[in-house]
This record gives sequence, C-alpha cells and structure tokens, in this order.
Amino acid sequence: MSTELPARFLERLQLIIPSSQWKPVLASFSSDRPVCFRINPLKTITDQVFDEFKGLGLQPEALPWNPFGYCLPAQARSLLTDSAMFNEGRIYIQGLSSQLAAIILNPQPGETTLDLAAAPGGKTLHIAAMMQNQGQLSAVEPVKNRFFKLRANLERGAASMVRTYLKDGREVGHKVPDRFDRVLLDAPCSSEARIRAGKPESWSHWSEKKIKEVSRKQKRLLHSAILSLKPGGRLLYSTCSFAPEENELVIQAALRKHPEMSVLSVDMPVTNIQPGLSEWSGKALNPEVAKSVRVLPTKQMDGFFLCLLQKKTGP
Ligand code: SAM
Repeated sequence: MSTELPARFLERLQLIIPSSQWKPVLASFSSDRPVCFRINPLKTITDQVFDEFKGLGLQPEALPWNPFGYCLPAQARSLLTDSAMFNEGRIYIQGLSSQLAAIILNPQPGETTLDLAAAPGGKTLHIAAMMQNQGQLSAVEPVKNRFFKLRANLERGAASMVRTYLKDGREVGHKVPDRFDRVLLDAPCSSEARIRAGKPESWSHWSEKKIKEVSRKQKRLLHSAILSLKPGGRLLYSTCSFAPEENELVIQAALRKHPEMSVLSVDMPVTNIQPGLSEWSGKALNPEVAKSVRVLPTKQMDGFFLCLLQKKTGP
C-alpha cells in the first residue's frame, strides 16, 4: 500500500471502493490531471474563443457530455490562467466532476433555482449559463472572503440573473419554504477528493473528527435545502468526499426525516461510477440510498458524490 497517502484515509477508502477498481483509483491520487474548463456562453461564442486558443497554440479537446466543456494537458494551466479569455470570464476553469453537477440538476430558463453553498461560484455560473440568465437564481455563501470572490466571479462571468446572499444556508429553508424548482447543495465537506499522493499539505485539514463535524453541518444544510424546495422540485446533493458519513448517511438521515423526498435514478454521462453503498460500518442502509452515485477518481477526473432527490407533490 502507498505510504504517500495517510494510512487511515487509505484504510477507509478500501472499504468504499470495489477491489476491482482499487488499482486505478489508487493511481489517480498521483496523476497530473488535465486542466478542464467551460466556455461561458453568457460572455462569448465558441468560435471566438477558439480563435483565442489558436493564437496561444492550444487545441482543446471537447467533452462528449458538455457542449461547452473542454480539456487541455495540465501543462497548459498557466497559459490559460494568464490569458485574457480567463481573466475576462469567457472561460471558467472547472474540473470534470464539478461540471457534472449542473448537468445532472438540469436547470431550465425561467425556473427558480437556489445554490445553497455557492462560493467560489463555478457551479452557479454553470447554472446561470444553462438558464440563459432567464428566471431567478439565488446564491448563498456565509464566509465573507469567499462571498466576495463569488460576487467577483459572477460579475466577470456576466451572470446578471444571480442574487447573492451572505447568509448561513442552514437558515434559508424555514425563511423561504417551498420556493425553488431546483436546489443545488454542493456541501462543504472534508474535501477528500483533493488529497494528492506525496503532498501532505493536501490532507493537513483531514481527520475523522473533521468528517464527523462536517457531517453534522451537511445534515442541517440538506434539511434546509429540502424545506426550500417546491413540491415536485429537484435537489442535487453533492460533495467532493468519499466518506459515507458525508454522503450516504446524510441522504439516509434526510429520507428518515422527510418522507416527502425520494431519490431519483440518474442517467450518468460517464462510466467511472458506482452506486451508493448498501451498508456501512456493519449496518444496512435504506435501499433508496443506493440510487446515489459515487464518481470514482481517474487520471482525468476527481472523485465526487451526487444524489438527485425529488419532493413528492401529493400527500
Ligand atoms: N459550489 C461551489 C463551486 O462550485 O464553486 C463550491 C462550494 S464548496 C464545496 C462549499 C461552500 O460552502 C464553501 O464556499 C463554504 O464556505 C460554504 N459553506 C460553509 N458553511 C456553510 C453554511 N453553513 N451555509 C452555506 N454555505 C456554507
């Protein structure tokens, strides 16, 4: 087993990842991922950006499942971050897993949408682009410096439809119950997917205590998100952690508290996935939870967890 990753993290991960996938998953922690981004249709058209790429001698590769998504080799990162198209918001650098969230939530122009944990705003921008700046989009972030970063990114990306709120997401649901057609809760988490082999700074904040702490917050945020959702509305819960305490167990607690919620099966556009766990720590989980999706990390993609929920319309 690799000594380049924290031993306890690896022990836990082995209980989550199927043995057939272990080798590639382990190798993914050492790989230099490509730099992926979205072209921002609120600011530009694809042809114009491609002229800019040509000028820089770059040939981005298109993603088959996101019409505005592209990747370049990792070495191109600084060329991109120094470019006018990045600094003026015509492209937004965003990992592939992160791009999946808005695609799965599938917000439509004219709808009322909430992003309950929004900074720095990559997914808010993606949602605004999918909604073509039409309808209502509210973005909540309680951490001041992150809130201002969010505002700056939205302004730079011309996401003029977004209303921003410097607020604790846990307070939102009871203030605006049954308000939104779609809610994204990309929850604060222990960020296990960001851990990189041989880079102790990438796990300096990681501990089992941290997992327990964020899990409590995630449950309260998901409760708030559910309250804010209209009957019939859809909610996407996501994290960039592998820990079942931050994922399956958060969903299970929400289903217990909210019989009006059900988990929807998701048609995923990528194949590096596994269903939500059916048991953890020797305890069987609610079978609905297995409709969640764990995106396994690869050489191209970070690990991710997502669960699409719907509020029932009838009694
Ligand atoms: N969705 C964002 C994006 O794609 O750019 C990333 C969101 S990040 C995973 C989680 C965010 O939740 C952080 O910005 C964090 O500050 C924020 N957060 C922490 N506690 C919160 C709370 N009580 N209510 C709402 N957001 C919270």
